[in-house]
Amino acid sequence: MNRVNRVNRVNRVNRRSVAVIGGGIIGLSCADELLRAGHEVVVCDPAPATGATHAAAGMLAPAGEAWFGEEALLRLGLDSLARWPEYAANLEQRSGTDVDLRSTGTLLVGMDRDDLIDVRRSCALLEESGVRVEPLDREALWRREPGLSSRVAGGVWLPHDRHVDPRRVAVALLAVLGDRVVRQRATPVEGGVLLEDGRVLAADVVVLATGATGLASVRAVRGEVIRVRTPDAPTHMVRARVHGQPVYVVPRSDGEVVIGATEEEHPGHSAPTVGGMARLLDAARQLLPGLDTAEFIDAVARDRPGTPDNGPLLGVLEGTGAQRPIVAGGHYRGGVLLAPVTAAVVRALVEESPPPDVAAPFHPDRFERTTPCL
Ligand SMILES: Cc1cc2nc3c(=O)[nH]c(=O)nc-3n(C[C@H](O)[C@H](O)[C@H](O)COP(=O)(O)OP(=O)(O)OC[C@H]3O[C@@H](n4cnc5c(N)ncnc54)[C@H](O)[C@@H]3O)c2cc1C
Repeated sequence: MNRVNRVNRVNRVNRRSVAVIGGGIIGLSCADELLRAGHEVVVCDPAPATGATHAAAGMLAPAGEAWFGEEALLRLGLDSLARWPEYAANLEQRSGTDVDLRSTGTLLVGMDRDDLIDVRRSCALLEESGVRVEPLDREALWRREPGLSSRVAGGVWLPHDRHVDPRRVAVALLAVLGDRVVRQRATPVEGGVLLEDGRVLAADVVVLATGATGLASVRAVRGEVIRVRTPDAPTHMVRARVHGQPVYVVPRSDGEVVIGATEEEHPGHSAPTVGGMARLLDAARQLLPGLDTAEFIDAVARDRPGTPDNGPLLGVLEGTGAQRPIVAGGHYRGGVLLAPVTAAVVRALVEESPPPDVAAPFHPDRFERTTPCL
């Protein structure tokens, strides 16, 4: 169905007014999808795209992140990954912003023999799930990524992983949404949302996309990343274990390189720590010695929205009175990857049509305490 027909269908059948609370990559993607489908949309956020979205490395790497017991999450990630090329092309065309989507895959690398055992263990799971994995010996690794240390033990190539620049994606989404973004905090109330200036914006549907805050079953998991610039950037995304320390290195097209990420659960102010930076830089320099001469750009710490089973919360929140908001939260380490499928799920829920099957295991009611606490 072309866009005009689709919009006409929505107009005839079910044009809804939707207020999205939270303007990170999730809230903005949902709003954009709804707008494209012909709905009326407003996004409320006092500081859009400055939460976890601002720190994210932009790996679209369900294979590189997969772990035992998280097979449903892997399937959701693979579904969303498949949506990314069309999603990015469409957004670029409408916004005029290049989002730097790159499709060079992930190199999973083990620095020593124990590290390589860990890498191979996660590959066994991937192969069971039908993900293509290409084992590489040391020579094959260096041919693919000549900047890797001569000390690496080995690794594999996951050809289907991609990466994107989340800050550019946010710029593009903000451009297409324009003045539909209201720079204020909001809370859901009967019939819409209450803004911090006291106004109520009426809405048929409220979507909660507030990242690491605002839902009782979501907890903040601090992550730190470092940005550097170098003429010797790797051509692939490299994820590695370096003597037990996990690290990844994600190159952008303009020579910027993101080195990440720490993972810590502690309350308090989100600021990068000396210990976190030292561990990441030490591991990254051992892995790719050329990074030694890279120029430092910045270090950023933000809170990932974690859930008890690491999966997102996608669905209508029952049992909260007549409001029944739609939740699009708890995306933890994968909110950038999962943005397109989340937007598709939220649109289906707004239109009261069946969401994609892969989202079924992620209903928010699987946790008792998924109540809003804005
Ligand atoms: C260091 C790091 C690296 C990461 N790397 C990757 C990666 O490579 N790939 C990947 O897929 N994911 C990655 N992630 C995870 C990803 O960043 C998150 O899953 C994603 O950003 C979640 O998006 P979000 O929109 O839900 O939350 P956020 O981006 O945190 O946005 C939430 C927004 O809600 C707003 N808000 C909160 N309460 C209110 C309120 N009451 N009213 C109005 N607005 C409100 C906030 O201001 C904020 O802008 C990374 C995260 C971190 C921290």
